Amino acid sequence: MNLTVLGPPGAGKGTQAQRIKKSYGLVQLSTGDMLRDAAASKTKIGRQVGQLIDAGELVSDSIMIEMISERISHDDCAKGFILDGFPRTNCQAVALDMMLEEKGMKLDYVIEISIDDEIIVERIIGRLNCVKCGAGYHDKFHPPAVEEVCDDCGGTEFVRRADDNEKVVRTRLQAYHAQTAPILPYYRERNRLRQVDGMASIDEVEKQIAAILDGSRTA
Ligand code: ADP
Ligand code: ADP
Ligand code: ZN
Repeated sequence: MNLTVLGPPGAGKGTQAQRIKKSYGLVQLSTGDMLRDAAASKTKIGRQVGQLIDAGELVSDSIMIEMISERISHDDCAKGFILDGFPRTNCQAVALDMMLEEKGMKLDYVIEISIDDEIIVERIIGRLNCVKCGAGYHDKFHPPAVEEVCDDCGGTEFVRRADDNEKVVRTRLQAYHAQTAPILPYYRERNRLRQVDGMASIDEVEKQIAAILDGSRTA
């Protein structure tokens, strides 16, 4: 089973991808994480990628398509994968269908996590992740059960992303509306788009996604 989760910054793509990964034994492919790793490498391309992320602008389609095409060829993806952050443009959506077809694979589900623009800034400003295992938290909406201790691994160090500030998130949101939201009709017209309510609680969103995945698992 292969799927992608779409939605604006802060919609809950990463949070839900982590949960689906655990419950269904899939591989999580977060293009944001891959790009942040590339940026940390300090190569020429890494530096360029880092600048785009810091500015809240999208990395070029050619780099993204090559990155995903290479990644889904790895053996671990044969058991199924969740794309978190890809595709983000029409060009990427079309290229994804083509590359999967070439590899004899397909995208089984496209899930849109919808959320109102007004709450995005609050979601993003309060986001933090465990350094050791990457688990995602929120200051207000999803703090660890024990203060400053990761629920999953007991880690006590957390990071906040440099691009998770109000100014950059507004640019990212603009990029979402201008470049990413236009791919929704591509999937909708082909009857492939399923929507969940990203304004509901994290557990409720997880249930809505599970109902979609379980409902047609036998198909
Ligand atoms: P995305 O990957 O779409 O940018 P994240 O999954 O990182 O979004 O979530 C953004 C922030 O909002 C995180 O701090 C996360 O803990 C929190 N969050 C995610 N889903 C919900 C939800 N349904 N309700 C409240 N907070 C949420
Ligand atoms: P969020 O979880 O807030 O939606 P991500 O971690 O997915 O953010 O992405 C962070 C940044 O990485 C984006 O602002 C963009 O610069 C870059 N990026 C991630 N995925 C893509 C993609 N598919 N195409 C172009 N740029 C991307
Ligand atoms: Zn942890």
